[in-house]
Amino acid sequence: MISKYGLVICPACGKARGVIASRKTSSCPCGRQVKIRKSMIKFRTDSPIELAEMVAQANAQLASGKKLRRSKTRASSDPCVRVAQRVMSVSGSSERAEAIARELTDEIGDFGLEEMRRVLEVLGRNNPEDVMTKLKEGSLIYEISEGRFRIA
Ligand SMILES: [Zn+2]
Repeated sequence: MISKYGLVICPACGKARGVIASRKTSSCPCGRQVKIRKSMIKFRTDSPIELAEMVAQANAQLASGKKLRRSKTRASSDPCVRVAQRVMSVSGSSERAEAIARELTDEIGDFGLEEMRRVLEVLGRNNPEDVMTKLKEGSLIYEISEGRFRIA
């Protein structure tokens, strides 16, 4: 059985990214369309939560110049992953968007597009700009400083 998700290192920006292993390409936030070859996949998992955790760990390891290693710890130290876990059961895209905004405000105070992107990534979605726009249009969040928001 082939696991659904994999971790690859983007050849353009050198960062670890989570991908759906069966896809041929994946777009990295750096703008590069990454062609996914089997040999590029470092780790695999079926859990989007574990994937997000692996990506966070791999990027921390890469940033500190360490060798890439898959750690066994499962408890998430990443607030974006914890937020994603808590909103996973919320149905309805606008209800879920509002729940993410509330949980992010609780976890980290104020949040921006980057945190929204990371939470949505764990949930297997890739539309942080749309979600932020809808929250702003609905006056559900307000901007406290350039690009940083809180729940209204
Ligand atoms: Zn990249």
